[in-house]
Amino acid sequence: MDVEYILNGPVGETCIDCVNFRHNVEDPSKGTCFGREVAATGRCKFFKKKTTRVSH
Ligand code: SF4
Repeated sequence: MDVEYILNGPVGETCIDCVNFRHNVEDPSKGTCFGREVAATGRCKFFKKKTTRVSH
């Protein structure tokens, strides 16, 4: 399946802004998405913008 992942998404619409992103606590430039390691600045076609901050 091609999720069209790119390393640098448009400002405000990258993995760090996405509901599916989970931070790597040791390195804020990275995180995971559905169990896969992604860059905070990345983006794919499943991007879904966070509307409110939820605590986990
Ligand atoms: S769904 Fe896409 S945009 Fe969202 S965190 Fe995962 S890779 Fe990034």
